[in-house]
Amino acid sequence: MQKKLLSLLVTAALASTAAHAVVTDAMIENDANSTGDVLSWGIGQEGQRYSPLKQINASTIGKLVPVWSFSFGGEKQRGQESQPVIHNGKMFVTASYSRIFALDAKTGAKLWKYEHRLPDGIMPCCDVINRGAALYDNLVIFATLDAQLVALNQDSGEVVWKEKIDDYAAGYSASAAPLIANGLLLTGVSGGEFGVVGRVEARNPKTGQLVWVRPVVEGHMGKKYDKDGKESDNGVSGTPGKTWPGDLWKTGGAATWLGGTFNKKTGLAYFGTGNPAPWNSHLRKGDNLFSTSTVAIDVKTGQIVWHYQNTPNDGWDYDGVNEFITYEDGGNVLGGKADRNGFFYVNDAKTGKLVNAFPFVKKITWATGIDLKTGRPNFDPANRPGDPTGSADGKKGNVVFSAPSFLGGKNQMPMAYSPDTKLFYVPANEWGMEIWNEPVTYKKGAAYLGSGFTIKTLSDGPIGALRAIDPKTGKIVWEAPNNAPLWGGVLTTGGNLVFWGTPEGYLQAADAKTGKIVWKFQTGSGVVAPPVTWQDKGEQYIAVASGWGGAVPLWGGDVAKKVSFLEQGGSVWVFKLMK
Ligand code: CA
Ligand code: CA
Repeated sequence: MQKKLLSLLVTAALASTAAHAVVTDAMIENDANSTGDVLSWGIGQEGQRYSPLKQINASTIGKLVPVWSFSFGGEKQRGQESQPVIHNGKMFVTASYSRIFALDAKTGAKLWKYEHRLPDGIMPCCDVINRGAALYDNLVIFATLDAQLVALNQDSGEVVWKEKIDDYAAGYSASAAPLIANGLLLTGVSGGEFGVVGRVEARNPKTGQLVWVRPVVEGHMGKKYDKDGKESDNGVSGTPGKTWPGDLWKTGGAATWLGGTFNKKTGLAYFGTGNPAPWNSHLRKGDNLFSTSTVAIDVKTGQIVWHYQNTPNDGWDYDGVNEFITYEDGGNVLGGKADRNGFFYVNDAKTGKLVNAFPFVKKITWATGIDLKTGRPNFDPANRPGDPTGSADGKKGNVVFSAPSFLGGKNQMPMAYSPDTKLFYVPANEWGMEIWNEPVTYKKGAAYLGSGFTIKTLSDGPIGALRAIDPKTGKIVWEAPNNAPLWGGVLTTGGNLVFWGTPEGYLQAADAKTGKIVWKFQTGSGVVAPPVTWQDKGEQYIAVASGWGGAVPLWGGDVAKKVSFLEQGGSVWVFKLMK
């Protein structure tokens, strides 16, 4: 009798383990509320990076100590921009050079690793980074620098499927974490500096099979696929020839390199798009849709429902890829975006209508403001880099000093939104650049800029600042300055805390209402990744990857010199309260 009961209990326990082991659509939709796991990039499809957990708060944080640290090993250090995902007691964290590790979330013990074999000719623009993986069913899925997607079994690390997104020799690469929405795996592409064609692709996450493809450069045909993989047309994006001269749309850039967010109420996926190619704006008179925009796509049909362009006819490499984070405001669903061009935008998430726009950095030269009626920027024509065809030798246009620099008022580091304080927490940077235009023609696999540049500091003071921003008033409620440019993402919690990392190596926390820094810990290398939090058996954990790198040391000009003393690294740290 007892034996039978035991066997029943074991069966029940196994069944519950098995049911718990599989990541379902319902679990992903509920990710922001479920505190025992982190299933998606952004801690929920909306990307708010908010957790209701409050065991760690201003009164307890003095006891926050490291539990374990894990080294990504080898000689492959470089920038670590990855956000870990946590499920079923396991942490899945990607690392530089298209690697992924599965770790025991409690102890840091290594369960398995997968190192993607990269060809010699990859062309990532901004370091050999990766931003994280997606979880679906029993799979963990991530994108690689040679523009592939790899799905691995969560338990064994075995490759279940692998699909090529596009040709790395043409400049395509991929580094964003995939987004799961409505049972589909949504991904973008990197390569805006090589004249690729930006797009969003939807796949069956279990098999990797394409469901639809939506190009985000006006004029390109969308595609859809039936169950057998048979391709058919799915409508042209926009009106061909309307916002691009000649054939320039064919190599128009608008790379969707930071991935997307999703709102269940609107059914729309929001992808930001990068610079139009080439950088020299005089070659492509017009708005150059849908570059430097937020593009809202109906996940069910693969059609663009609305777009809002942050920088029409961009001439400064102001990629508009920044995350569009949706939030509730009364009965409305709004979305906030801190754009690389220095302005913070609030749009209606259903219609795209501009609700508010204001600067979140102190110096902006390219526009004097955003017209809330028309939704368009008020350009300052004197501050657009000149046309080389009008110069004396036809080789170099007028040099202008522009702020922000092309590294942006904000770059890849994702901000957070707190429904408690109703504030956005934005990692911002103050810097400028000298920029000029040159003649250029498209050549497959070659840089397609038609511009030269040097990044400059604006002062001897701090470059970075974490800013708490009220999206209603446009006011900076508080700021925490940082000497080096901030390059890591943000986490905010029900414990009234904001966590973020610095290139100087600190993971730190501030009071979400006042900005007072209440805790910091030196991780041994620069933090350029977003922290996460979860709980297990009543204990709250915090994790962050550490490893200095990314675009600043490579492209930062005078700023790179200023931060060249920072050391590289490659590890992930986990913290909890000391008992
Ligand atoms: Ca969760
Ligand atoms: Ca770009």
